[in-house]
Amino acid sequence: MNNQFINSAESQTSSNRDLVSACGLYCGACGIYLATQENDSEKILQYAVVLNQTFDETLCDGCGAMRKSIHCLKMCTIIDCKLKMDVIYCFECNEFPCQALIEFKLKMPHRIEIIDSLYRMQETGIENWLIEMKDYFSCPQCKTVNSAYHPACRKCGNTISCKFVSQHKDAIEQYLSK
Ligand code: SF4
Ligand code: SF4
Ligand SMILES: [Zn+2]
Repeated sequence: MNNQFINSAESQTSSNRDLVSACGLYCGACGIYLATQENDSEKILQYAVVLNQTFDETLCDGCGAMRKSIHCLKMCTIIDCKLKMDVIYCFECNEFPCQALIEFKLKMPHRIEIIDSLYRMQETGIENWLIEMKDYFSCPQCKTVNSAYHPACRKCGNTISCKFVSQHKDAIEQYLSK
């Protein structure tokens, strides 16, 4: 194996790990992450307005990355907590699953599976979990990754955007109609 190949494989692994949140979310299916990676300025601006932050402050490469959306960097109490508890992921913590995590999970439908997701990470390992998550959030028809808030596939319009959305359709629709 030549050096160039090793370097590219390493950077791909590390970039994938950036998509693993301490709390069990898969950042690869976050709307902000998708808009950043796809240079979708219009969407980034929409998120910036909603989150009351600048365009640049909104850009995000995932929870484990250096460039992180400011609302996750500054407002996320789980990030502070994992540092205090000296863990990388919540499943490694003696308090898991703690009350703070349960409350965090109940606030928004895209978080509905975080605790199961952390158990799955622990069981199968991070690399396998990443593969499973990508599939879980991909359109069954065209394989585009969609977020929990894309009821239909954003590329091909398939009425089932991904398995996650089909599992939690009612909770997502209820949240979006508020
Ligand atoms: S905004 Fe938050 S949830 Fe979204 S990709 Fe960035 S760190 Fe992950
Ligand atoms: S106390 Fe809860 S939120 Fe904090 S690291 Fe442990 S499991 Fe995660
Ligand atoms: Zn599709």
